[in-house]
Amino acid sequence: MEYHKLIVCHECDQLFRKPSSVRGRRASCSRCGASLPTLPGAGLPLDWICAVTLAALITFCIAQSFPVIELRANGMTSEATLFGAVRSLWSGNMRAVAAMVFCSSILFPLIELLALLYLLAPLCAGKRPPQFDAMLRLVQLVRPWGMVEVLMLGVLVTIVKMVSMAEVIPGPGLVALGVLTIMLGVVALFDPSGLWVVRDEIGTSRKGGVRWSEGSAGRRHFTRPLRACKAGSSPALTAQRAGLIGCHACGLVQTRSECQAHQRCARCQQVLHERRPESLTRTVSLLLAAALAYIPANLLPIMHASTLGRAEDDTILGGVAYFWSSGDWPLAVVVFVASVLVPMLKLVALTLLTATVRQGSGWAARERAGLYRIVERIGRWSMLDVFVVALTVTLVHFGSFALITAGPAALAFGAVVILTMLASHQFDPRLIWDNAGQRSRPTR
Ligand SMILES: [Zn+2]
Ligand SMILES: [Zn+2]
Repeated sequence: MEYHKLIVCHECDQLFRKPSSVRGRRASCSRCGASLPTLPGAGLPLDWICAVTLAALITFCIAQSFPVIELRANGMTSEATLFGAVRSLWSGNMRAVAAMVFCSSILFPLIELLALLYLLAPLCAGKRPPQFDAMLRLVQLVRPWGMVEVLMLGVLVTIVKMVSMAEVIPGPGLVALGVLTIMLGVVALFDPSGLWVVRDEIGTSRKGGVRWSEGSAGRRHFTRPLRACKAGSSPALTAQRAGLIGCHACGLVQTRSECQAHQRCARCQQVLHERRPESLTRTVSLLLAAALAYIPANLLPIMHASTLGRAEDDTILGGVAYFWSSGDWPLAVVVFVASVLVPMLKLVALTLLTATVRQGSGWAARERAGLYRIVERIGRWSMLDVFVVALTVTLVHFGSFALITAGPAALAFGAVVILTMLASHQFDPRLIWDNAGQRSRPTR
């Protein structure tokens, strides 16, 4: 049985009554503070998102076609396009790193834009395109792995780094990349899980076009949580306690089936999990692998530089020290935070979360849930150094005069980023609340 008037928080499992509309703004869970998905009227209108997606796709093509940076040194010129950076890594026997850069900066953002446009253009005209479910699942799958904004920061860091060595000329691709970053930021504000509700409305409505119902409130809602009984100190009613289960992909609340081992969502056919299976074991395994890769990532050289026959190896910390001593302290801070501090904080935070959940601790659940959200958001920024390496390798290839190639730490560092992101995806934040006090905060 499906419960279309209920909504479940995907981070703490609290059940809520769905408000009639949130009119352009998102609602948050009053228990854990997470944004609630699939609320009618949340976010920008569909035709706006469709227009921005189309503009972003055109800008994406421009950013790929023109050089991002041009470098002139000793009468020689070299330029870097995004695809050229991938090709340089591939030909320099850094194929795994090339694949990471290609997927995160080209393939996944392109898939997201194409799939979103495929879904939104017909939906704005009140039609449901064929293969709707598969395409929407694809958007939700690739979205966390597209990292154009990190690439943009990587380009800026590379420019500042190169200025002291040679003449740096920003290319037309850089302007396009900057505009693309802003547009993708707008697209990222749109929660694609809301399209599942639009799909249902199109299925039931005979009218062309989709209109959300207009609610009376114009400010941010905190939806009303359901409680097990009417007393003020009653425990929060979670989907698990009510014998229900919420789909993580589309948000539909439905009855939990005891007889089905792999129950699938009635709307999107995603496999439903009351709690992610083997969540702690998988998270700990990925964390251990990431911690092991973190050591060579910091100790081994990330780049080999050869200038007029003189060879030099660069580690991440060596690069930070060089920027600091040469007066580029803002750059030193950015690289240190993104490449050293963020991966370490992710490892420590996820270890703390898994340890407290394993011990059945109910300590500071709301703060731990907030910590998990921070880890989820900052994880991608560690790719910064991998992008800087890719661009530097592409730019500095002046034969015997100056040549830079990627070192083994680039691969180890990329592995740390991917493994910690996978670890945070495998961790089920609902486990934090299973042992927390059963009281929810009062509703605002
Ligand atoms: Zn919640
Ligand atoms: Zn579903």
